[in-house]
Amino acid sequence: VLACLAVFFIGIAVLLSYFMSKRALVPIQEAYHRQRQFVADASHELRTPLSVILSSVEALEMEEELTKNELTQKLLDRLREEIKRMTKLMNDLLTLARADSAHASLQLVKETFDFRPHAERTLRLLEELASKKNIRMHFHSPESVIIAADADKLTQLLYILLDNAIKYTPDGGEVTLSIGIAPFKQQRILTISVKDTGIGIPPESLDRIFDRFYRVDKARSRQQGGHGLGLSIAKWIVDAHGGTIHVQSEVGKGSEFIVKIPC
Ligand code: ADP
Repeated sequence: VLACLAVFFIGIAVLLSYFMSKRALVPIQEAYHRQRQFVADASHELRTPLSVILSSVEALEMEEELTKNELTQKLLDRLREEIKRMTKLMNDLLTLARADSAHASLQLVKETFDFRPHAERTLRLLEELASKKNIRMHFHSPESVIIAADADKLTQLLYILLDNAIKYTPDGGEVTLSIGIAPFKQQRILTISVKDTGIGIPPESLDRIFDRFYRVDKARSRQQGGHGLGLSIAKWIVDAHGGTIHVQSEVGKGSEFIVKIPC
């Protein structure tokens, strides 16, 4: 009898805690939804005044009288830099808010295409940034890399990883991009590796770098124009494609980001 009573009361307790947690979840989900909507609306609303400020700065830069003055020119350059930084932040926040709003895979526009020219174009876009730091860029790829995926999003993923590799590699370093297709259990897997000879990531931060706004060194990231959102976007793109992203890193030696996506 005692055993039966114990089972009965444990059962009641389990059921009660189940229903209470369900009830508690509703307001939490609602609050979460409202918070996401707020971020999406705020970033959207802030883009318009930002573009007005940018065009005003551009108009001021046309005034010869103003730009002759060294201090004014310096202030205008700083304004332009900050506007660029804020626009990037707004766009990244909007991307993540959209990413949260629906099932990730529903937001992909998949097509069959050759990934190699996209990778080459992305490398070319970043060449100037790399050459400013005297960083040598290497590229390994087969003749063509035909995949079925979202071309724009994969290009964005590549841009984020390469941009980081350049940002966090000191002058004179090297960045290597390798892409290819590997067979795995009757599937074709797109592999992307972005390897650098940069500052590396401490072991205790490896699990956190994909979190929103996480930066190993806030001051260094900010100085490089970062907000800690790039890798969260990269992870979202990889997840949406049903793939994986891993990082191997050693402080002072460099990092390698490895992406695998079934295609
Ligand atoms: P951020 O805009 O700060 O670069 P990310 O989300 O792209 O934001 O990256 C998060 C953090 O991960 C960075 O602030 C940096 O500390 C670290 N990180 C990312 N990529 C690299 C890399 N290739 N080498 C060293 N650290 C990196």
